[in-house]
Amino acid sequence: MTNEIEHPENDSRYVALTVNKGIERPDPVNPDLADRLRSLKRKSLSTDDFLAGILAGDINVLSQAITLAESARADHQEQARVLINRCLHATGRSARVGVTGVPGAGKSTFIEALGKSLTAKGHKIAVLAIDPSSERSRGSILGDKTRMEELARDPNAYIRPSPSAGSLGGVARKTREAMLLCEAAGFDVILVETVGVGQSEIAVHSMVDFFLLLQIAGAGDELQGIKRGIMEMANMIVVNKADGDNVERAELARVQLKNALHLFPPHESGVEPVVITASASEKRGIEQAWEQVMLHREATRANGFLERHRGEQALYWMHETINEQLKEHFYRGQKEKIIAAEERVSRDEISSFAAAFQLLDGYFRDR
Ligand code: GDP
Repeated sequence: MTNEIEHPENDSRYVALTVNKGIERPDPVNPDLADRLRSLKRKSLSTDDFLAGILAGDINVLSQAITLAESARADHQEQARVLINRCLHATGRSARVGVTGVPGAGKSTFIEALGKSLTAKGHKIAVLAIDPSSERSRGSILGDKTRMEELARDPNAYIRPSPSAGSLGGVARKTREAMLLCEAAGFDVILVETVGVGQSEIAVHSMVDFFLLLQIAGAGDELQGIKRGIMEMANMIVVNKADGDNVERAELARVQLKNALHLFPPHESGVEPVVITASASEKRGIEQAWEQVMLHREATRANGFLERHRGEQALYWMHETINEQLKEHFYRGQKEKIIAAEERVSRDEISSFAAAFQLLDGYFRDR
């Protein structure tokens, strides 16, 4: 094959290689699409662009804004802070619902059934997740793309996997920021999902109005494995998988859980928690669960708890952020001194307290 174009590698020395002339890139079939892609690829949107896109309900812009808030880069963090602050007037109007339960309890199946039923009624729902293990496990349980396939295709639903920042506090803060951005983008129901295996429930509790615990009727003691703290936080317990030959067992579990709840002090919201049975896969109990969320909402609006609780949550996040930043700054600033102190403490040359105060004194003196 003859090659007309000039190219150093077409030199006869390189017998195994010829470089052919390229072709011109044809015009895009759809010029609008090309424009859109170009604008998406643009390195960074201005804060005004972000704000306008979010307030217009543009999902692409919303996604980019959440990515910005999740970024560890200082300039991204700064821009996200300004953006969220400017979005604040458009937040707070959604029903914020936390969903927890051990892996396998049916959270995704339940959220998908609930989500579909809500979008059918005209709601716009966002599903966020807090999964502090997601960084370690990579193939995150909550970030799995094959989950909630039907809901993921629904134009009125937005599913965002858990951010994978290191600490639980960091993950939770980013989820709260994502929640505010979703509200500003017009989502009126926010479901925050978490695996019921640790501290993450507390983090979810600090950002939702209603906390739903999904249980399954297992063999033996129904209360086994449920931490007292989680039971105490729950506004509703849904005994899932009440179908097939599991119906009776689920009903028994419901009664046991209801009795157990009586032993707790009255709920801080002034509304007593309820226990229902459901089958997420057969889409039963879903409407009843939502009714309960709405009843709770009305009651806590009327008794002032909703507003008070949200105010407390906002303060909690202010203090959380201060604590997190101070800690980060302290540890980042004096790594060597800390390592040296660790060695001395472990050799019993200095007490833990004295070492801690030496480091703290040094830190504050350097300010
Ligand atoms: P998650 O880990 O809590 O999100 O649980 P999944 O929603 O992934 O459900 C775990 C398994 O339980 C899946 O195989 C579901 O099909 C099944 N499952 C979920 N809900 C129900 C239900 O109501 N009844 C029955 N029989 N199975 C269910």
